[in-house]
Amino acid sequence: MSSPSPELKLSAYANRLPGSPVREILSVSQQPGMISFAGGLPDASVMPEMPELGDLSSIKQYGTSDGEALVKQELVKWLGSEGLACTEDQIMITSGSQQGLDLAARILVDVGTQVVVEDPTYLAMLQVLRGLGADLVPFDLGENGVDLASLEQQLKDKNPRMVYLIPTFQNPTGYSYTEAERIAVAELLDRYDVTLIEDDPYRVLNYDNAFTRPICSYLKKATWMYMGSFSKMLWPGLRTGYVIAHPDLYPWILRAKQATDLHSNRLGQKIIGDFMAAGSLPAHIERLQNHYRVKRDLMQKLLKQYLPESVKWKLPAGGMFFWLELETDTRDVLSKGIEAKVVPLPGTPFEVEKSAGKALRLSFSQMTPEDMEEGLKRLAKVLETL
Ligand code: PMP
Repeated sequence: MSSPSPELKLSAYANRLPGSPVREILSVSQQPGMISFAGGLPDASVMPEMPELGDLSSIKQYGTSDGEALVKQELVKWLGSEGLACTEDQIMITSGSQQGLDLAARILVDVGTQVVVEDPTYLAMLQVLRGLGADLVPFDLGENGVDLASLEQQLKDKNPRMVYLIPTFQNPTGYSYTEAERIAVAELLDRYDVTLIEDDPYRVLNYDNAFTRPICSYLKKATWMYMGSFSKMLWPGLRTGYVIAHPDLYPWILRAKQATDLHSNRLGQKIIGDFMAAGSLPAHIERLQNHYRVKRDLMQKLLKQYLPESVKWKLPAGGMFFWLELETDTRDVLSKGIEAKVVPLPGTPFEVEKSAGKALRLSFSQMTPEDMEEGLKRLAKVLETL
């Protein structure tokens, strides 16, 4: 995206807001014959049917900013079973978890506010934080998992107001924090009294029984907001997610929601509430896990079969992505890949500071087995030419 022209007299926010490089890559992915590993889309073939809705007259009217009671009741039960005890008055339904991230950032971040982030991290949150003028303070999410020493150093030196983490099947690396890492991070956040934004859209895509108890459930002193999503669990097109907030922060994020869009769409919430109240969730989640686990395992097998030994990755225990680390620069991989009709996603837009420019994110969620194999054969050939 080109930068806004100075004659337009836009706000400082608009002038800071970066475009999304991935949107442009996704349009190339649509070309005929192209095999794309770039998008992070769930597989439509395992999205459940919509429930029968019956009489919809009750949702024609404006609703409340915090969301529909039925979804909130069901979330309290489900999240309780996932290790996050909360009450209905801590829940706010949002237009996708992306809106939760934006609102959370808006009530915490001023120009120059120090915000600690994993490096690499989710690029649309980088877009939100850069738009607000945050000072990004990265810590390593490297080969050996969470670099606790580098996190503690940043908390000590920079005195940040907020830490943004994706501890479960992270986008883009696929990394999931161990139990010990979750406890250690919570202790650090309590000690330095920093607000945690915990982003958790992939939790149900758990293929190996990974430990996933939310970090915020361990906090004793620090405040927090937890972002959940129905996008990967049910239907992304409904654009419905939720925030669970520490009681001190809840009134503020609710106020930000009121000022933004009054409330989230009631039809989407009705569909989700009815689906959950019918008891359909556990079997559906098991089906999702079985479906995506097969794809993840095939991807692992084919990567070993076709890619050069110098390419390194870790098997993700959940989520939708493999993060490949190469010995060479990935700058040319995209253009050469497009010529060879395969689209990998270069890791650079996810990298905050260390920007090694040597990683690729490959999504396996939507791939047919045939495309996966042909796509990796093509990618292997492209890597040989670098
Ligand atoms: N957080 C992360 C880490 C994501 O990868 C995504 C999108 N896939 C989101 C938040 C936003 O999800 P949604 O708005 O669809 O709930």
